[in-house]
Amino acid sequence: MRFQIIESSSAGNCAFLDVHGVKLLIDAGIGPKKINSYLSSIGLTPRDIDAVFVTHEHIDHYRALRSLKNLPDIKIFANKLTAETIKYLDSDTKQLNWNTFETGLTFDFMGISVRSFSIPHDTSDAVGYSFSCGGTTLVWATDLGKVTHSVYDALHSADVLVLESNYCPVMLDNSPRPFALKQRIKNSHGHLSNSDAISALKNLNFSKLRKVFLAHISRQCNSVQHIAELLESSALPLSRIEIVAPCQSSSMFQDS
Ligand SMILES: [Zn+2]
Ligand SMILES: [Zn+2]
Repeated sequence: MRFQIIESSSAGNCAFLDVHGVKLLIDAGIGPKKINSYLSSIGLTPRDIDAVFVTHEHIDHYRALRSLKNLPDIKIFANKLTAETIKYLDSDTKQLNWNTFETGLTFDFMGISVRSFSIPHDTSDAVGYSFSCGGTTLVWATDLGKVTHSVYDALHSADVLVLESNYCPVMLDNSPRPFALKQRIKNSHGHLSNSDAISALKNLNFSKLRKVFLAHISRQCNSVQHIAELLESSALPLSRIEIVAPCQSSSMFQDS
């Protein structure tokens, strides 16, 4: 398994996952040029991508999907409500090779066991994903207002975890954002704060977890420094936790 977050923040999210030669994107919420330039940096083009797994219909997760409309071999996976809403929001995505699934079911995609799980977020049917193959499981969980029991079930299964650490409550309160938006971010269908994310990590078993990426960081209402300071006083194993700065790629995770 090879995994790298191309970019992740409130402005856009897209990650690359290669499992035994099967090449996936998780979300496509950054500009197509950035995706192409990343793929080219690892010797690939969009034609090499087998599938895109979409979490939900916020623009920071599907912005580049329309650029794939002339590549019908790329399968676009989402649950039905998410697929229908994206097609409604951006009619250029109607011609994509959509493949819908039922949230919560596990299915096989080219030898990868894929499971989606519900996350509490203010969209029609937002999901996180778990991708398992050869004894390694990667779990993607961003854009969630709280860590529910079913989300914990997924997090506990992770060897590699992407978890959001979206905002610092003080920076959010002091930001010029409208009151209603601040409430939306903070409620149980919004986003995880830094302390929410760190509390969730404290409940996980780090003898299993090999790598954690803290991602989907708000550019306006958070900073890498804030998260780093909180982590330092958390007693978590810092060497296995990477804070993914907005607009920058993470390191590449590679097993064995
Ligand atoms: Zn988002
Ligand atoms: Zn969202």
